[in-house]
Amino acid sequence: MIGRDLLGIERLERAEIERILDTAEHMREIGTREVKKVPTLRGRTIVNLFFESSTRTRASFEIAGKRLSADVINFSPSTSSLKKAESILDTARTLDAMDPDAVVVRHAEAGVPQRIADVLAAPVINAGDGAHEHPTQALLDLLTVRQEKGCIDGLTVTIVGDILHSRVARSNIYAFRKLGAEVRIAAPPPMIPCAIEALGVKAYTSLREALEGADVVMALRIQNERLAGAYFPSTREYSATFGIDRAKLRFAKDDAIVMHPGPVNRGVELAHDLADHRPGVILDQVRNGVAIRMAVLYLFAGRQPAEAAR
Ligand code: ASP
Repeated sequence: MIGRDLLGIERLERAEIERILDTAEHMREIGTREVKKVPTLRGRTIVNLFFESSTRTRASFEIAGKRLSADVINFSPSTSSLKKAESILDTARTLDAMDPDAVVVRHAEAGVPQRIADVLAAPVINAGDGAHEHPTQALLDLLTVRQEKGCIDGLTVTIVGDILHSRVARSNIYAFRKLGAEVRIAAPPPMIPCAIEALGVKAYTSLREALEGADVVMALRIQNERLAGAYFPSTREYSATFGIDRAKLRFAKDDAIVMHPGPVNRGVELAHDLADHRPGVILDQVRNGVAIRMAVLYLFAGRQPAEAAR
């Protein structure tokens, strides 16, 4: 994978996904040591290029790079020449001239990481582009479910919420399908993308039916920043119908886990009464985010074996 871009889960093979997960297991162990640092990427430079806000993803890419001893530069568009109307691609070319070893890109518009990858020599890692993909989120979700359930094959995963605007939903649909899970989506009709069933999922407008026998319940945030106004009922109506609470969770399997990519709107997509329902799973998602991003940086932006031996 060295030198390749990671733009989405859609283009990854099952074996590649499993390799990233296995590598992340090793990386997680590094995070448990007293000195959480290994020299693997010493002398490599990683640029975080976040055009859209982020808490978990940006921080965890930074921690991941630092744990591998890379030099990590956070590029903030608000203080850059983008304010002076420099185009995104010009910015990318300027960064490229500084010889980074990987560039991590987040942008509100789908396809921007691909366009940047077209002009950059360094591998580009997509950290979320519009409603398109968020590959490292799906990978950390797979890792979390694999730890909780032992394997992914044969599980039933129900993704609930704003599927239409969610890059997390899209990446997770590809990811869980590729690893052999049954994926269901549940949402109010305007939030179900047309032709979504072509991705191999079953769409439900009844949450109860979608939860029947589910092993994993993944709640998504309403993407207010991507709503064009017409799609959303009201917060109250949404939480009454699609918000996950204890009563609705009874339709899923007894040992079902509840996940959320964050940021969580308590009382909207997850009820307050779920606060004590194995809250560790959502924090494990965050913890696994660091391990997955370490694995991704190592596998995509590491040194070729011959180079590493020098
Ligand atoms: N943090 C995730 C993302 O960037 C989910 C969300 O924002 O709702 O897509």
